[in-house]
Amino acid sequence: MLMKNNLIKDLEKLLPRNNVLSKIEERYVYSQDASNTPDIKNIADAVVFVETIEEVQKIIKLASKYKIPIICRGAGTNVVGACAIEHGGIVLNFSKMNKILEINRKNMTAKVQPGVIVGELQNEVEKIGLYYPPDPSNLAVSTIGGSIAQSSGGARTFKYGSTKDYIIDMKVVMANGEILQTGANTIKNATGYNLGSLFIGSEGTLGVVVEATVKLIPKPQAHQVIMAYFDSIEYAVNAVDKIIDKKVFPTTIDFMDKNAIQTVEKFFPSGLLTDKEAALIIEVDGFKEAIEHQSEIILSILHNAKASAIQNSSNEEEYKGIWKARRSSMGACARLKPNVTTDDVIVPRENLAKLVYGIRNICEKYSLDVCMVGHVGDGSVHPQIPIDYRDEDEYNRLKLAKSEIYDLTAKLGGILSGEHGIGVLKRDYINMVVNPLALEYMRTIKKIFDPENILNPYKIF
Ligand SMILES: Cc1cc2nc3c(=O)[nH]c(=O)nc-3n(C[C@H](O)[C@H](O)[C@H](O)COP(=O)(O)OP(=O)(O)OC[C@H]3O[C@@H](n4cnc5c(N)ncnc54)[C@H](O)[C@@H]3O)c2cc1C
Repeated sequence: MLMKNNLIKDLEKLLPRNNVLSKIEERYVYSQDASNTPDIKNIADAVVFVETIEEVQKIIKLASKYKIPIICRGAGTNVVGACAIEHGGIVLNFSKMNKILEINRKNMTAKVQPGVIVGELQNEVEKIGLYYPPDPSNLAVSTIGGSIAQSSGGARTFKYGSTKDYIIDMKVVMANGEILQTGANTIKNATGYNLGSLFIGSEGTLGVVVEATVKLIPKPQAHQVIMAYFDSIEYAVNAVDKIIDKKVFPTTIDFMDKNAIQTVEKFFPSGLLTDKEAALIIEVDGFKEAIEHQSEIILSILHNAKASAIQNSSNEEEYKGIWKARRSSMGACARLKPNVTTDDVIVPRENLAKLVYGIRNICEKYSLDVCMVGHVGDGSVHPQIPIDYRDEDEYNRLKLAKSEIYDLTAKLGGILSGEHGIGVLKRDYINMVVNPLALEYMRTIKKIFDPENILNPYKIF
């Protein structure tokens, strides 16, 4: 208690008083994230809102003095418990470090603070004809810092890659308070080890990102989205193979199963066809002429691949309507029970149908409802399972089902996360897919970067 009182006093010396939260109810609300995992019940010792790099450095030095954890927090929307509080510590909240510092039209880059909302950066750069493609479904609220730390992806990863492909430089405050710079404002960099890549996906365990420079590309002139329905999941997956086989390159090939379609339609009526087994959401972008050409090819493939109905966006409103429906799936699923869990297993695309059917069978075996969506162009599937954590039996069944889903994913040559990360929820399973020597090197890297284990300790492994 004395330690905590001293800590709060020290924090209040370093930051404006209203940027330090110490009341129990204030600390409580920043101690969980969107995973809402019931197994973690600890709360933070303090929550601080940082506004400058110097403040971050001072707080980290203070945490080192007290030997207590630092847990960075963007919007808290990660779904793996990556910023859930397990061992107390200081929550470093970046919501006030949210400025776009520069948009450089000539270099096609932007320099941002970590608390910038992904969707806001996209809107700003699009005003001058530039484009930041990484698009986690919740880009309206999630931050650049969080998406770097989780290596977030989204529907457009299929064509454009994910966050890791757009970060060209970062300033990172290390565990001893020093600042490490990972690159420069250049598109290429073959100058020594690629240290930047270590921080991307490191879930706040290796360093604290306080500034990032992102690569931008020209904004595609136009886009169109096609929603194709199928009477079997197999037809839908075959259609994906056929599109890829034809060498057309859509921006996205996303998927919804019948349960997802019906659940979205129940809570957010969007005109989806609820009698269908599966739907693909295929977006094409580029020059208008190219879109027409690609759409024609895709529509012909879809007809041959037994699509039983097709909706084609003919204006921006219809385009947004289709994406809104797809992006509402988790929100809709969350209305079925008090909580919802989601996952992001990914396999080589050739094994996609086996994964989708396998997940269905596993959920059936454990009497769990599942809405499946995914970015099937790149082989990733999000099984969204509604759950009431108060029901112990259901929670135990969920754990058994998850373990079998990971086992199946490993057997199909896949990995446990394509974009959500590992956090606390999947750390017990990481050895199913990561080679023991690779894990040993990861642990060694953690020890070198953070010898006192104060940066988001015990996340990932
Ligand atoms: C409805 C919904 C839909 C989603 N859809 C997608 C999707 O399509 N694709 C996808 O990839 N993810 C998705 N996610 C997961 C999540 O949104 C992403 O992982 C997101 O990028 C997290 O951003 P955040 O700002 O909320 O980060 P937080 O949850 O606050 O933090 C995530 C991690 O980053 C660390 N961190 C935060 N800021 C920093 C920093 N400055 N320096 C170092 N570490 C830091 C935290 O400690 C934590 O480990 C979804 C989540 C929800 C709830």
